Amino acid sequence: MPFVEYLSSLPEPFKQLCSSWPKDIRWKNERAKPDQAYVPTAVEHIANVITHGMWIGPSIYAGMVLLRRSATWQQYWAAVVYGMALVLCFAVSTVFHSVFFAGHNRQLKELLHRGDRAMIYVFIAASYFPWLMLRPLPADHWGSELWWLVWVLALLGILYQQVFHERYKSLETFFYLFLGSDFSGLPELKFGGLLYVLGVFFFKSDGAIPFAHAIWHLFVASAAGVHYFAILHHLYAAAPGDIKTNY
Ligand SMILES: [Zn+2]
Repeated sequence: MPFVEYLSSLPEPFKQLCSSWPKDIRWKNERAKPDQAYVPTAVEHIANVITHGMWIGPSIYAGMVLLRRSATWQQYWAAVVYGMALVLCFAVSTVFHSVFFAGHNRQLKELLHRGDRAMIYVFIAASYFPWLMLRPLPADHWGSELWWLVWVLALLGILYQQVFHERYKSLETFFYLFLGSDFSGLPELKFGGLLYVLGVFFFKSDGAIPFAHAIWHLFVASAAGVHYFAILHHLYAAAPGDIKTNY
């Protein structure tokens, strides 16, 4: 295929990038209208794909480490639920941003966008799961109701988001913040929650700050990392096989 023909067969965002490279790169677009979604520039699209795509592999490995260290069925199930949510959170986001960038299939993009937003709620609820499964609070404590409460909240968040897609965005932010702030005293969880809350600032800054969405992705990934190591350290002691190698 001649080069010119090949270029014209590329998706629109690629063509824009190729024709403007290396000068005149658009670092950000106009802010979206209140009831519309922000449209990233080509370089922003690429950053969005990379900043979540790079964590799919490490997430699979991280989930497998938890599985390997599981000594009880509670640990096993917590590892399965949390590990799957971790991998899916990054995978769904990466597929969504790739399809969005390619710009060919609007319907698939819409579907994946909803899936991407829904995954964040599932991911936050799943992050509570190992703690509630492996560190049950006393039965008379209100926190003992949390194990079902977080899933109900996540479900409400998803339902709300499916119905009011791209409307009432501040309410959506409230859901994220509420579910993202932690209820326990562990410093790691506080720090993870703080990263998450800081990230929401960038989540809201599309079009005001270049790469705002990619920065939000990095905050999500760092919060997930901090949380993962807290789970690994506090809830999953090293497997017997690992200890044996120490002497
Ligand atoms: Zn994203």
